[in-house]
Amino acid sequence: MNLEGKVAVVTGSTSGIGLGMAVHFAKLGAQVVINGLGDEQTINTAIDQASFGGKTAHYNGADMRDADAISSMIEEVEAKFGSVDILVNNAGIQHVSRVENFPADRWNDVIAINLSSAFHAIKAALPGMQKRNYGRIINIASVHGQVASVEKSAYVAAKHGIIGLTKVVALENAEQHITCNAICPGWVRTPLVEAQIEALAEKEGLDTEAAAKQLLASKEPSLRFATPEQLAETAAFLCSDAASNMTGVNLTLDGGWTAQ
Ligand code: NAD
Repeated sequence: MNLEGKVAVVTGSTSGIGLGMAVHFAKLGAQVVINGLGDEQTINTAIDQASFGGKTAHYNGADMRDADAISSMIEEVEAKFGSVDILVNNAGIQHVSRVENFPADRWNDVIAINLSSAFHAIKAALPGMQKRNYGRIINIASVHGQVASVEKSAYVAAKHGIIGLTKVVALENAEQHITCNAICPGWVRTPLVEAQIEALAEKEGLDTEAAAKQLLASKEPSLRFATPEQLAETAAFLCSDAASNMTGVNLTLDGGWTAQ
């Protein structure tokens, strides 16, 4: 697997799954563009980790709630590196609350970051991909794009939405060498899930590891977290020749969650 000569933009790549993907793509030879929130040290660490083989990862701090900033990011990358060949729409947040208590501003943020940002990035990147007749668009959805859980209305709505968006983009570009697919992880132990583990530990009076086991046992028959590295390898597969005729699908890595 060689991504030499390819430019990969990974949104939300200062942490967790996105960072794992950025590092893996860089190791495979791609020029990587990092995006996401964080203090200077977090951002510099992400840049360092995603810099390989004489290529320095580039950072663009576009806020994924801001459509103009997202299209400017794509324009900047095309101007600086000549193309966006691989686009991973990964940025995401969670808010856990029953619908009747769900704050409207949190709903808007979850929909903006987890769903609308992917639309804005894809819209900005597609003309260049169509001109060059090549593109790999990978949307990080979730098992929550296929099934629901209580207290995650905005997240579940956004993830179901991104699976729909994935299929439309796949169909609209099917005759060109542009694929659009979704990856649907179950639990992955990143800061996004760590917050849920801590909340469960506090609610049930458990230590962190006992709470992590309980969280897994509630949904995931394998009782194992997927890792950012496993997801990164899955994303790389979607960029390989073997996957060149695979478009509009969900690849689910959920330890059996949705098989139940
Ligand atoms: P994470 O919290 O470790 O990373 C989220 C990333 O998104 C960070 O880089 C953060 O800075 C960035 N981000 C958040 N708000 C942003 C904004 N306004 N603008 C730009 N960047 C922003 O979480 P993660 O678990 O790595 O999640 C990554 C993706 O994977 C999300 O879309 C999430 O829904 C999805 N996912 C995660 C899990 C899991 O169990 N962790 C499971 C299924 C799907």
